[in-house]
Amino acid sequence: MKLANTYCLNKGYKFKNDIRRILLINNFSRLCTEKESSTPFQRSLSSIIHPYIAFFFSFFDGHQSLNDTLASISEEFEIPKNEVERIIFPLINNEEPIKFTLSEGVSAVLPINFLEEGRRERDLIGSIDLDEIIENIDIVTVRNYLPDWMTIMINDKCLTNCVYCYADTGGLENTELEIEKLKAIIDEAYEMDCNDVGILGGDIFLYHRWFELVEYLNSKNYAPILSTKKPIRADEIAKLKSLVYRKLQISLDTVCNQEVESLLGVPGTYLDKMMDTLNVLNEQKIKFSINTILTKYNCEIVNLKKLIRTFLNFEYLEELVIASSEKSFYKGDHFLLSEDQIFQIMAEDFTKDPRVKWSLKKLKEGANIKEDGSTKVGCPGNVKSLNILPDGAVTICEQMFWNRNFILGNVYKDSIKGIWCSERATAKWDIEQRQIQRLSPCSRCPEFNECRKEKGICWAEIVKEFGANNSDFPYPGCVYGLL
Ligand code: SF4
Ligand code: SF4
Repeated sequence: MKLANTYCLNKGYKFKNDIRRILLINNFSRLCTEKESSTPFQRSLSSIIHPYIAFFFSFFDGHQSLNDTLASISEEFEIPKNEVERIIFPLINNEEPIKFTLSEGVSAVLPINFLEEGRRERDLIGSIDLDEIIENIDIVTVRNYLPDWMTIMINDKCLTNCVYCYADTGGLENTELEIEKLKAIIDEAYEMDCNDVGILGGDIFLYHRWFELVEYLNSKNYAPILSTKKPIRADEIAKLKSLVYRKLQISLDTVCNQEVESLLGVPGTYLDKMMDTLNVLNEQKIKFSINTILTKYNCEIVNLKKLIRTFLNFEYLEELVIASSEKSFYKGDHFLLSEDQIFQIMAEDFTKDPRVKWSLKKLKEGANIKEDGSTKVGCPGNVKSLNILPDGAVTICEQMFWNRNFILGNVYKDSIKGIWCSERATAKWDIEQRQIQRLSPCSRCPEFNECRKEKGICWAEIVKEFGANNSDFPYPGCVYGLL
């Protein structure tokens, strides 16, 4: 570290006005996709912090040397400079997140590489009125006052009919959000300073105005992930060069013609077209990643090795993620890998190329077991984020599509902010134990508030296990749930 050099808040982080507190969240803006070097940053970040803390670190805005920054903080906060150094130095390129207590029972985190070297000038507080926030401060409530991010399912069109598909058309077909409505949603997300607006299909590249949409996202500083199963034409690939996006993700589950039809429900020619797309991307030096979903129908080791070999040949392939399929609400679980198949894959000696990432979930009594042995997945839906369906319905969980229990409103009838702050949405999060059906062990669980309101719970896992009418049952594998 050099006192004469400039250090700034990691470009992967930013402060957000959450009306009654400040949130330290990810910054998935165009700034984050710039080529200049940056230290790695923690993802899925959302930490409530006091406005004074945001103000303290807002001096790291890339405008002055470290020495001058320390002096400015010391003067503004009337703290001796050596005391400021004691606080700041451990946060420069810190390898571990630093946790601290905000108030009794509430902790906050300053993530890895919190401060990094570089002259990236940013106005970190912008128009946030810190005094107004302090007047109404709330650093305790877990649910955000405004959403951090949203995912928009822009259409329901898809070329394939995958055996493991989790999409539901809700009886609708060929539905898509109008471009003007999409722009209005993006405008509102921008006004609320949402850190991310994700777009999904169906298939993004089957939305006839996809280019205009991504351009508009860029104009509001959003750099989305573009994910597709569609063979993208050369003229479409050429257009990508003028857009800013975080990742181009191609989903392709096999390189064997025999598997294509049974797995993806399309003729074998589909594979040739997808390989053409990958070739053009590579020739055009456009970086891309590939996602491969494994089912019992495409898990033969010899074919898997061929798939890895084929994809790794592409110089511009950034990442190949191979993941196991999950139970689908709509297609059931007949395609899931068996325990034996997972162990067989894990025992095999595959390439050590770091571009290959595995995500194979072991199954036990229907529950997903995480690395720490727990089964619980916290849900960001209606706590930090929301999802918009192609007809404008706003839902807690994109996997549950039009399940009425999880629909919070519709963007054709109300604003995002109106839906987020509505009685229905807040009551859905602020659920009381007496509202739980007596048949459910959650109705008498001592951990109820901590489980449901603080950590959150994956509703989809519960509904998959117990059915749509029993979403107030315990999550699969919950120890209290057995009582
Ligand atoms: S319910 Fe589960 S799948 Fe749905 S958004 Fe929440 S965590 Fe994700
Ligand atoms: S029984 Fe399990 S799922 Fe239900 S509230 Fe208690 S800890 Fe949560």
